[in-house]
Amino acid sequence: SVRGWAEVDLGALRSNVRALRGRIGGAALMAVVKADGYGHGALPCARAAVEAGATWLGTATPEEALALRAGGLPDDLRIMCWLWTPGGPWQEAIEADLDVSVSAMWALTEVTAAARRAGRPARVQLKADTGLGRNGCQPGPDWRELVGAALRAEAEGLVRITGLWSHFARADEPGHPSIRAQLDLFREMTAYAEGEGVRPEVRHIANSPATLTLPEAHYDLVRPGIALYGISPSPEVGTPADFGLRPAMTLAASLALVKRVPGGHGVSYGHHYTTPGETTLGLVPLGYGDGIPRHASSAAPVLVDGKWRTVAGRIAMDQFVVDLGGDRPAAGAEAVLFGPGDRGEPTAEDWAQAAGTIAYEIVTRIGARVPRVYV
Ligand code: PLP
Repeated sequence: SVRGWAEVDLGALRSNVRALRGRIGGAALMAVVKADGYGHGALPCARAAVEAGATWLGTATPEEALALRAGGLPDDLRIMCWLWTPGGPWQEAIEADLDVSVSAMWALTEVTAAARRAGRPARVQLKADTGLGRNGCQPGPDWRELVGAALRAEAEGLVRITGLWSHFARADEPGHPSIRAQLDLFREMTAYAEGEGVRPEVRHIANSPATLTLPEAHYDLVRPGIALYGISPSPEVGTPADFGLRPAMTLAASLALVKRVPGGHGVSYGHHYTTPGETTLGLVPLGYGDGIPRHASSAAPVLVDGKWRTVAGRIAMDQFVVDLGGDRPAAGAEAVLFGPGDRGEPTAEDWAQAAGTIAYEIVTRIGARVPRVYV
């Protein structure tokens, strides 16, 4: 028996990659598959994205990138990772032909030392902070120092500067003035580096919202994540259907118990829900231990027998309850938490709204206890 499962439609993922490629002219597509492919499974999604024309993969951690390199994908596939901490596995990354992001002098020092040990150059992509205020090198003297040192390391054969790149803070708010400011600064910082002699293979700044709404941000490569999985970055950007995207994940469960109870019956911890009259309760065997957000208690929709029902009371670690009113499905009946939405089911966006979060978090947090079923 299976409590719950996440069906992942790899055909939808391939078709999403093709839809995105249709918007980017000759730019390359890096499929961002960090955090286990936003919860969809990194390796199967990477394989599907490559089949549909992605030529790069992107991850946050080097460990994620190394696992993909060991996963039997084409040898010439480029894999980039960007979240490094001191002592990170630089030599393994160099030996696995990863592209590594460098935002600061400490990282350049470590990667050049590792390249000396490995006896081959590291593929380094210099990251500029053009306004996100997170990772990336500050403009001005910091950038000049980093570019100068990277060029000297390149002249020594220790690194190859393969990319210049940055990341947006507010691309999911089309028209926001910070987008223009970041693009202007990116142009300035890349022009400085190129003026000094950097010859990058790729310059890139576009995440999903910029890929979908801002052609001038496409440069040589785009880095969509959420759009690959068929989810819109934000309601302001639009719906998935506006861009020909289809959500890839459907999260469903088998009702573990269906029972009639009288009116006035308290439901789940804290009795935040009390049955208004005699009714049927259905027990959904998924909970926050599976990544179902507890903040969606008493709020999120679930499709059972063709009807939207609302989570009744608190979501617990392993289970929650829905009030099925007069319906009496059998135990084992399917409850669909979210999916593409075209069979009447709620979407991850509906769950995000109920939980006060974004759809990214809804799919990414679905836990390891939930089997992924690929179709
Ligand atoms: N690029 C970087 C550096 C990221 O951290 C991410 C994810 O947050 C992405 C691209 C993909 O972003 P999105 O999922 O909004 O397309």
